[in-house]
Amino acid sequence: MVTMLKGKTALVTGSTSGIGKGIAEALAGEGANIVLNGFGDADEIEQHRADLAERTSVAVTYSGADLSQPKAVAAMVSEAEAQYGAVDILVNNAGIQHVSPIEDFDDERWDKVIEINLSSNFHAIKHALPAMRRKGWGRIINVASAHGLSASPFKSAYVAAKHGVIGLTKAVALETGGSGVTCNAICPGWVLTPLVEQQIRARAADSGQSYEEEKVALVAEKTPSKDFSTPEQIGGLAVFLCSPSADQITGAPLSIDGGWMAQ
Ligand code: NAD
Repeated sequence: MVTMLKGKTALVTGSTSGIGKGIAEALAGEGANIVLNGFGDADEIEQHRADLAERTSVAVTYSGADLSQPKAVAAMVSEAEAQYGAVDILVNNAGIQHVSPIEDFDDERWDKVIEINLSSNFHAIKHALPAMRRKGWGRIINVASAHGLSASPFKSAYVAAKHGVIGLTKAVALETGGSGVTCNAICPGWVLTPLVEQQIRARAADSGQSYEEEKVALVAEKTPSKDFSTPEQIGGLAVFLCSPSADQITGAPLSIDGGWMAQ
């Protein structure tokens, strides 16, 4: 079994579901200890934690930190460092969506999207970076979006947050140049996760079309390949970014979107 990341520890936010789950699985498969984070049913999370640990023979722990709370983000990083020595790989993945015309966009929803999708990345990086610098090696992977590079209507907070994530990624890459730490952004197009299933259901309710019809339409609108990316593929890209081949990749937004950004 290949264990490129044996002895390293990866904290993956929002890894109780979707893309984060796929990234945690891929990093554990390469031997990294994992700190899971995110919301969900406590029994299901514990079952997943124990199952991942058993299948991959790495240490897997869980933090229930609410990433909209800066103090909780700081505590999550401190606890991981106390347990494992350092967070070698930080994957800022947790995110939420809210779809509404800007005139009707709820103020509290705006704040939540910015807090969880953007500010939590800042707080986690700020607290995890000192230990990475001391070790002379670190990987910061921010899960941005195609919406970090272009916009769609009715997603103002999400688009603003994801453009912010790419700006943050570039600033951190400049500040960490030559330190052994890299910072990159993964920009997925459509991935069929609960975050997107909810949007497909809303479209179907509006249009009267079936869920399956709206699923095909949603992907076809933006994606030349006419297909979804998968959490496994995004996990594979995260593993590559942790490999020696990626030592000189930093500050980069990396699209994995079936050609969306080529248009
Ligand atoms: P998801 O809804 O399946 O998972 C989101 C995760 O974030 C869950 O684990 C959830 O519990 C966690 N989370 C939400 N709020 C949280 C909070 N306050 N504190 C801690 N954890 C919290 O969504 P997903 O599609 O897997 O999205 C993951 C990331 O990928 C997000 O940043 C999203 O913007 C981005 N993304 C998704 C797509 C897509 O098509 N699904 C495309 C581009 C980018």
